[in-house]
Amino acid sequence: MTQFEEAARMILASSRIIGFTGAGASTDSGVPDYRGIGQQYWTKYNMQDLTFQRFLANESSRKEYWRMEQEFYELVLSVAPNDVHYVLADLERRGKLLGVITQNVDGLHQKGGVSKEKVIEIHGTIFTVSCFQCFKKYSRQEIYERIKSGIEVPLCSFCHGLLKSDTISFGQPLIQEVSARSLALTLQSDLFLVVGSSLLVQPAAYLVAKAKEAGARVIIINFGATPYDYCADLLIYDNATQAMAKILYQLEILSQQPQ
Ligand SMILES: [Zn+2]
Repeated sequence: MTQFEEAARMILASSRIIGFTGAGASTDSGVPDYRGIGQQYWTKYNMQDLTFQRFLANESSRKEYWRMEQEFYELVLSVAPNDVHYVLADLERRGKLLGVITQNVDGLHQKGGVSKEKVIEIHGTIFTVSCFQCFKKYSRQEIYERIKSGIEVPLCSFCHGLLKSDTISFGQPLIQEVSARSLALTLQSDLFLVVGSSLLVQPAAYLVAKAKEAGARVIIINFGATPYDYCADLLIYDNATQAMAKILYQLEILSQQPQ
């Protein structure tokens, strides 16, 4: 039996699957990874300047932040989902998907067909912007157009407070309610499927260990080793998109066989 068939069999035997995705799930759609292959894309920005603390402290860091954000938003608008996103949507249609917990901010799971309410974006989303002072929310498109028209650092129209995308920057704390929800969902899962995450970013990565402790089976699909490989019942070192396509193929074969 190949690893892909084994993964498909584990999926068919499960009914409460969590898909946990990281940057590797979006790279084949053309979204560059901060750490891996796409790193060069980001070198034109000073990443040290893009921490949450610098954003709060310096106007020059905020300018750099919005320059990077504009380019990233344009890129995200131009990309399409890939097989990682489509296969997880397929698991939802089969009634097996408890939820998707993603480290990505690009909205590709929703675009790929997973219901909005099933997606937990632990690092937030690029599609909304919030005011730090009065908490008013704006669509990213509105702010995008404002910056396009020549404003370097947009401010809240109501209170002139600082605006920032609803993504979690380096050094920015996660939103507690979102973390709590992802943990609660993880503890209910019977299969925790990691796709395209090196599981290096905490506290998100420890969810794998929590799933395992709570009795779920664990599959890790990633290009290389992760610190949580010891939790895996099945490890697939492969490109996330190709691996998911092969698993879907096996799922279809197995689903057609009489039980
Ligand atoms: Zn405001």
